Amino acid sequence: MDQLENDEGIDPAATVIIKMREQGISSLPRNYELVYQFLNTSNAALIREFAALGRRPTQQQLDEIGKKFLPHHHDVSTVAQTRDRISDEMKGVISLVKQDLSTRRKYSNLLGETSSRMSDGGPASSDALDGMVKVLSSATGDTMEKGGAVIHQLIERTKEMAQLKAELEEYKRLATIDPITRLSNRRAYDDRLSAIYDGQQGGMHHALIVADIDHFKSFNDTYGHQVGDRVLSVAAAIMKNTLDKDTFIARTGGEEFAIILHGISLENAIGTAERIRLAIESTPLKNHHDGLDCGSITMSFGLCMATDATGPEDLYHKADVALYEAKDSGRNQLKIHVPKTRKWPFFKR
Ligand code: GH3
Ligand code: MG
Ligand code: MG
Repeated sequence: MDQLENDEGIDPAATVIIKMREQGISSLPRNYELVYQFLNTSNAALIREFAALGRRPTQQQLDEIGKKFLPHHHDVSTVAQTRDRISDEMKGVISLVKQDLSTRRKYSNLLGETSSRMSDGGPASSDALDGMVKVLSSATGDTMEKGGAVIHQLIERTKEMAQLKAELEEYKRLATIDPITRLSNRRAYDDRLSAIYDGQQGGMHHALIVADIDHFKSFNDTYGHQVGDRVLSVAAAIMKNTLDKDTFIARTGGEEFAIILHGISLENAIGTAERIRLAIESTPLKNHHDGLDCGSITMSFGLCMATDATGPEDLYHKADVALYEAKDSGRNQLKIHVPKTRKWPFFKR
């Protein structure tokens, strides 16, 4: 069987690679993501614009389509462009240093030659001595001038690199932040969740709480999407303020949040979720602009201890199942994943 095929036919990853080769698209991860979307999307505009590119599209054309149709593509391409600029600056610095070294090497050779001529009895006439002094002083002047210019350019390039590096750090930071709530986003959450099981950190006494606003659709329908957005950021702020400063909390989807608690017992994790639940339900929501009273919202919670799951996906799945039990049991409550082997009384409010 061909390497690219599995039992169901061509591997989707291979299809993307074939398409990229056919169209002469360079094998950057962001291009792979774009081609994958093109091959799997039902978005007619994306299909149309991508198909119109034809063979050998430029990276700029690809990035423009990526920016338009793929969330995060902008961050990824900006980070990549900044990284390329830093790399260009580095190449510039290396070439300057090489030039400088070659100027100094020539100067050093000239000094070496002059020195051996002096040891061999020196120039035969005063004219010859005069000539040697001229050559030497002109080479010294040249070398110093070139050296000064190189140092000036090196300082400028180093400044530029420091600025680019700061920009890069900022882009990287923004790429992990949710714009509405300013909490970490889904991408940062995925990384944190996987890290829980890396090297079985600290015996894995960690907990995952997933939380979802109750009946948020009808809240939006009553007060409008804009007020809904404000409420998302208020709920985020309440949760953040209820937690320790360093506790990781992310907005993982529309009105869904996740909290990762490190080095915590089940009882303390339950206490944390319950504190958040109470803080949310007891906060009156009033619109500052028009004084509109929006009542309050409630949230449902699912909790699973890292030790009760086999890996990040299983942990998320179990916490999510517990969350849906909380929804089914009437909302505004916490449910805990209980392993079949352990008898743990369900948390009572
Ligand atoms: P449940 O208690 O079962 O969670 O009900 P629900 O209405 O909260 O859940 P459902 O999944 O039916 O709807 C989620 C709603 O969340 C749909 C959408 O109106 C709202 N939502 C999702 N993302 C955003 C957002 O970014 N801003 C606003 N304002 N609303 C959002
Ligand atoms: Mg909801
Ligand atoms: Mg939801």
